[in-house]
Parts: sequence; C-alpha cells; structure tokens
Amino acid sequence: MYNFVYVKPDSLAQAAEFLRLHPDARPLSGGMTLLPAMKQKMAAPSHLVDLGRLPELRGIRHDGDALVIGAATTHAEVAGSALVGAGIPALCQLAGLIADPQVRNRGTIGGSVANNDPAADYPAAVLALGATVVTSVRRIAADDFFVGMFETALEPGEIVTALSFPLPDRAAYAKYRHAASGYAVAGVFVAQAKATVRVAVTGAGPGVFRWHEAEQALQQGCSVDALQGLHIGPESMLDDAQTPASWRANLVQVMTRRAVAGLQVQQIKGSQ
Ligand SMILES: Cc1cc2nc3c(=O)[nH]c(=O)nc-3n(C[C@H](O)[C@H](O)[C@H](O)COP(=O)(O)OP(=O)(O)OC[C@H]3O[C@@H](n4cnc5c(N)ncnc54)[C@H](O)[C@@H]3O)c2cc1C
Repeated sequence: MYNFVYVKPDSLAQAAEFLRLHPDARPLSGGMTLLPAMKQKMAAPSHLVDLGRLPELRGIRHDGDALVIGAATTHAEVAGSALVGAGIPALCQLAGLIADPQVRNRGTIGGSVANNDPAADYPAAVLALGATVVTSVRRIAADDFFVGMFETALEPGEIVTALSFPLPDRAAYAKYRHAASGYAVAGVFVAQAKATVRVAVTGAGPGVFRWHEAEQALQQGCSVDALQGLHIGPESMLDDAQTPASWRANLVQVMTRRAVAGLQVQQIKGSQ
C-alpha cells in the first residue's frame, strides 16, 4: 500500500472543500472496496477523506412519498431498518443478501452506488425504483447516474450524500450469488409503481441495465405468465470460463421470473 494521509472532516462542506483542493484525495466510506484496492496498489489516493461520521450523510427518513437513506448508512442498517421494511421490504432483503456480516456492517449504500461495481446489488434497486442520487452539488436521476463499468456521472470530488427512493406499490429482488464472494452473478430487481413496471439487471452485464422488453411485457399484466416466451440474448452479457454469457442470459430470465413471483407473494400477503 502506498502512503496516504487520513483526513477526518467535521462537516460535508469541509469534506467537499478538501476534495476540491486535493484532486488526488478520495472519499472513504466503509472502505470495503477502496482499502483492498489500495492494498493491491490498484488505487493510490494522496488522502482518504473519511465520510463515515458526517451527520449530513446519516439517517433514514420519509420525505413525502420518498424514502431517503443517508449515504453513510451501512448495509446492515438498511437490512434492519423498520422504516425501509415498511416502505420497501425488497430493499431490506437486498441489503441482507450483500456479502457477509463483516462487509454488511462496514460497507455503505453511498459507497456501493458511487463505486458502481457491475456485480453490486444496490445499483439494481436504485435503477428499478427510479431513485434519485443526491450529491453535494446536485440531484441525479438513476437513469443518468450509472454510466458504465465502475463509472458514474459523479464529477471528481462530488460526494453522494443520500439516495431518495420513491415508494413503489410492489417490489422484489432475486439474486443468484457467486459462491465465493456473494456478489451477484445475476440479480434482478422488479418495481411496480402505479402503471409503471421497471426491471433492472445487475451482475450479468458490464454494468447495471434496464431490461426494456421485460418491462413492456409486464406492463400488460405483471405476472410470471407475461414473461412466457421472452428471451434475452448472450451478446451483451459478461463471459468467462466459470459463467459463460449464455448461462448468465438464462440466469437473468430465471431471476426475473423469481422476482415477479416474489411480487405476487407480496400482493397475496397484503390482501389477506
Ligand atoms: C468480500 C466482499 C464481498 C462483497 N460482496 C458484495 C455483494 O455481494 N454485493 C454487493 O453489492 N457488494 C459487495 N461487496 C462490496 C461492498 O458492498 C462495499 O461495501 C461497497 O462496494 C463499497 O462500499 P463502501 O462503503 O465500503 O465504500 P468504500 O470502499 O469506502 O468506497 C468505494 C468507492 O466509492 C467512493 N466513495 C465512497 N463513498 C462515497 C460517497 N459518499 N460519495 C462519493 N464517492 C464515494 C470511494 O472513494 C471509492 O472510490 C463486497 C465486498 C467485499 C470486500
């Protein structure tokens, strides 16, 4: 690991100003991705600006019809939150499926979204739920935020402060976990809000994406039957020896059916 200086700002304004003045400094949240990258000399920030305790980045609250989750909220806090459980239970479930208890107790929603790992879980929820990424300078719609593999619309020094999720009518997440890491080999988040259905896929491709054909099919009637005969090709999937593209494409179809079946279970429970 290269040398670096640890910086602990007292406020979001201080953190943002420090990052502005030091272009080689990086924000530090849970450190679950950044620190291993530094240990392997794949990242060499001059300073680590610790966001973990900034009050502006903490807390979960309702804001009208949206659920706002502070960027420094850990995966374990999301998984255990009664507010998230009441508003978007699928998000609790997703957070509880990330990695292991150690990672869940350190890793944060803001760090995960800013990092945009193609196999991370949160990007699927952020995109399917049509969330807004709130930063130190602006608000970015999910559709504009995820640009490519490990790439986002964030400008250098821009800090994610919160995620604002509009409350859906129904939502569900289905994930096929990598046996060793727990990351998504394929994860599908389906969200229905009024007449709109959005389907977001993580893990399978070079970045999170919406499966528009599935959305159109589910628009006619949000049931597993509506997906009958729907096919996604291997062309846009990641391909490696352990998980060939054709296998990932098939997994996307299976996970989509499972997520939609999860929606149905929720509906039945709600009407009992
Ligand atoms: C063994 C292991 C298994 C894992 N399995 C999974 C899994 O199954 N699913 C999954 O989704 N993830 C998984 N992860 C990743 C984990 O969820 C991390 O917590 C997450 O990727 C990064 O969050 P963090 O808070 O640790 O961010 P950090 O490591 O602190 O930062 C990551 C990057 O984002 C930047 N950053 C951090 N916070 C902000 C912010 N607020 N604004 C702007 N930029 C910021 C940093 O500068 C850095 O570039 C795993 C990690 C490990 C080590």
